Amino acid sequence: MEPLDKDTAKKLYKYYRQNRDGIRNCPEMGTICLICESINIDPVEGVPNQFVCRNCRFKFIRYQCSACGSTVDSRDPRNPLCEECGLRICTCGTCECEK
Ligand SMILES: [Zn+2]
Ligand SMILES: [Zn+2]
Ligand SMILES: [Zn+2]
Repeated sequence: MEPLDKDTAKKLYKYYRQNRDGIRNCPEMGTICLICESINIDPVEGVPNQFVCRNCRFKFIRYQCSACGSTVDSRDPRNPLCEECGLRICTCGTCECEK
């Protein structure tokens, strides 16, 4: 994906700071930190699906559900917590830990 320009990032950041519902459906939010507005997001080495902000070190989880293909984002309140493992899971209720 193309790196985001600052204006777009700022707009999305402002919007999703107020409306966390929907972060999962916004591909750009995979590269924007919801804490400090940074667009310097790195994958965490050795931990699948986990990302960290290079600026403030805030970590979040983002991945595609293996069952329905929807994106799961740990910052989105619509993604429930798995009763088994406590991780943020897809709106369809599928968790990777069930396998
Ligand atoms: Zn940050
Ligand atoms: Zn799903
Ligand atoms: Zn689980």
